[in-house]
Amino acid sequence: MAQYVSIAIDGPSGVGKSTIARLLADKLKYTYIDTGAMFRSLAVFYIDNGADAEDKETVTELTSKVRLGIEYIDGVQHMFVNGKDVTDRLRTETVSRTASVTSQYPEVRSMLLDMQRAIAKQQNVIMDGRDIGTVVLPDATLKVFLTASAKVRAERRFRQLSETGKLEGATFESILKDLEERDYRDSHRETAPLKAAEDAMVIDTSDMSIEEVENAIMKELP
Ligand code: C5P
Repeated sequence: MAQYVSIAIDGPSGVGKSTIARLLADKLKYTYIDTGAMFRSLAVFYIDNGADAEDKETVTELTSKVRLGIEYIDGVQHMFVNGKDVTDRLRTETVSRTASVTSQYPEVRSMLLDMQRAIAKQQNVIMDGRDIGTVVLPDATLKVFLTASAKVRAERRFRQLSETGKLEGATFESILKDLEERDYRDSHRETAPLKAAEDAMVIDTSDMSIEEVENAIMKELP
């Protein structure tokens, strides 16, 4: 059986996981797997079916009816829900909030877990999420856990949204509150909570540039 390299990058919302993971994947020619996008795609399906995210029973029932697809088009991860490309719909506030709530449910997680493991068996991957090093790929070649205070993460997001004209009424305070709520839900759920694996390399990125974080990880690669 072929042995592929897997790099797990976990951490809270807005810590820069996807930026770092994308850069590394590009450099190493590995496939970047954004697992948050999988939870977000399911959220789109629940929303389209009129489900309330807090209604665990309905969400669980809907989960058994969805066919989720993942494809790489020109190097970009595209997500399909029952054959339809939903990639452009994943980044709205409603989807973020719904995914954050529904990702707590065990049936939602177990469906994605199987998919995530199957993908990592077929190629070299850099996978980012919340539970990659602890649950999805416990034997990953390298595990990284990125941290930064909620304040620093909120400042970065606020700056990014301001610069791209996408604030849409959000303020620094509302962004901070939202991040703290998501952190709380991710760290306190029963199934696969957000935490660093014991053998993860923990990097506090608060005072580091993207390049510095990238170099710190590259140094650890076998
Ligand atoms: O990383 P991203 O913000 O896109 O993830 C969306 C939501 O999916 C998060 O709020 C988190 O609750 C959930 N998630 C998760 N486990 C992962 C990836 C994402 O619970 N591995």
